[in-house]
Amino acid sequence: AKENGRNTYRFYTADMNARALEILSVENQLRRALERDEFVLHYQPQVDMGSGRIVGVEALIRWRHPERGLVGPMQFIPIAEERGLIGAIGQWVLREACRQNQAWQAEGLPPIEVAVNLSAMQFYGRDLAQDITAILAETGLAPRWLALEVTESVIVQDVESTIATLAALKGMGLKLAIDDFGTGYSSLSYLKRFKVDKLKVDRSFVMDVPGDADDSAITRAIVNLARNLGLQVIAEGVETPEQWSFLKNEGCDEVQGYLISPPLPAEDLAKRLARGAWR
Ligand code: C2E
Ligand code: CA
Ligand code: CA
Ligand code: CA
Repeated sequence: AKENGRNTYRFYTADMNARALEILSVENQLRRALERDEFVLHYQPQVDMGSGRIVGVEALIRWRHPERGLVGPMQFIPIAEERGLIGAIGQWVLREACRQNQAWQAEGLPPIEVAVNLSAMQFYGRDLAQDITAILAETGLAPRWLALEVTESVIVQDVESTIATLAALKGMGLKLAIDDFGTGYSSLSYLKRFKVDKLKVDRSFVMDVPGDADDSAITRAIVNLARNLGLQVIAEGVETPEQWSFLKNEGCDEVQGYLISPPLPAEDLAKRLARGAWR
């Protein structure tokens, strides 16, 4: 490989340039996408294990790209974060999720929570509580029907600031969930100081339950931790009836995953909601 050093280097820079150009192009297209209203939210049901009813949905962003079709968030959210566009996109997501949830309630559908994912920049940048207050006022959604999902890695970036932000949001009556729980660097002692409502067991643990003994032990431990702390617990990425039975047995409150439904366009979600129980 040594004698190829020059070539390798050249390839490397060519690659870097291609990557930089790609990012620049996506950045410009993202700016246009905001203006042209190319983003859309899909909604994935969250089901209460006791009643089998849909009690919430997670709002997940997609980009209706004029040439590339429906583009998933992993293709553009990291670039939006890197290029400082996540604030504007995040505001759009919050407003659209609240507007849609209020519209469902106005149609007479059973009221549900809508959960929105927050990036670190949204959490630490502007006054999030103030922004959300304005969005709730504008859309008419009652705060109890909005949940925010934040990852551990986000909340431990600045503990003091997190405590203040979470307290402000909590004071407004919103729900707060820790997303991808168990995958971050957070110390469990933070759970006492952060006023959250819900832990979300990461899909990487749920995936190999009940077959894998370690993942089953971790999932069981998280469910028990949540219950003992008086927090709600939801498992994500539930795909099989075996996972459902295991989680039900352990006392998990809610599940989300392909077993119930993939994320759906708003109209399809409304039909599911009107039908009642998920089966
Ligand atoms: P996440 O918050 O962990 O969301 C769950 C992801 O798992 C979603 O992917 C969902 O479609 C997928 N999923 C749900 N059930 C199953 C299942 O049973 N099996 C498998 N294999 N996958 C399942 P998606 O929609 O591609 O979103 C990926 C990530 O993008 C999200 O991960 C979240 O971190 C981020 N994201 C999505 N929407 C937003 C947004 O509006 N704002 C921000 N900041 N991030 C977002
Ligand atoms: Ca999430
Ligand atoms: Ca998650
Ligand atoms: Ca996850």
